[in-house]
Amino acid sequence: MQLPRFEYLRPETLGEGLSALRKYGNEAVVLAGGTDLLINMKFRLMTPKVVISLGALPELCEVAEQSDGSLCIGSACTLTDLAAHPLVAARYPALRDGIHEVGSRHVRNTATLGGNLCLDTRCWYVNQTETWRASREGCLKTGTDRCHAIKSATRCHAISSSDTHRC
Ligand SMILES: Cc1cc2nc3c(=O)[nH]c(=O)nc-3n(C[C@H](O)[C@H](O)[C@H](O)COP(=O)(O)OP(=O)(O)OC[C@H]3O[C@@H](n4cnc5c(N)ncnc54)[C@H](O)[C@@H]3O)c2cc1C
Ligand code: SF4
Repeated sequence: MQLPRFEYLRPETLGEGLSALRKYGNEAVVLAGGTDLLINMKFRLMTPKVVISLGALPELCEVAEQSDGSLCIGSACTLTDLAAHPLVAARYPALRDGIHEVGSRHVRNTATLGGNLCLDTRCWYVNQTETWRASREGCLKTGTDRCHAIKSATRCHAISSSDTHRC
């Protein structure tokens, strides 16, 4: 499966990144590890005009201790790095344990905390290829008034698969 066409931006400062977000608004998405976004784009669940990578922003990969002892965690920290961070392990063992629930080591090596927290909800009837989805009527999430998962539902019950926010 191929990705749809899009414009790729890789800002080198936070200011550049924020300007791009302001400029393109809803036409842009943020790319962190890409372990979820790129699949959704291949499935044509998301077809953004612009993809803004966080890959060149090292300040988003930092874990900084605050004066009150809490931690400020950059959204682009990989799950592997966070789980191994001594302050995270010591102060937020539930977060570390939640991270270990995410996929496999390969996924965690690339996936980020920000991406995990910003996952869209998932449903077996929607998270499919474009061809598969075209073979049946849409649902509440995709613009019709019915739900295939729960026939009597009046709202979408697709779930979040984010394991780090459950901790
Ligand atoms: C094989 C496989 C197994 C998986 N298993 C699990 C699992 O068990 N548990 C689980 O929780 N997840 C799982 N996932 C889903 C996903 O890989 C992870 O949730 C991962 O943490 C997503 O992070 P990412 O950096 O790759 O996000 P991306 O794919 O880059 O982005 C995900 C979404 O978040 C948005 N986003 C990313 N960063 C930011 C930011 N800083 N600000 C605003 N929006 C942002 C993106 O625009 C996109 O909409 C799995 C994925 C795969 C491929
Ligand atoms: S409306 Fe129903 S079928 Fe559609 S995504 Fe939500 S739960 Fe799934």
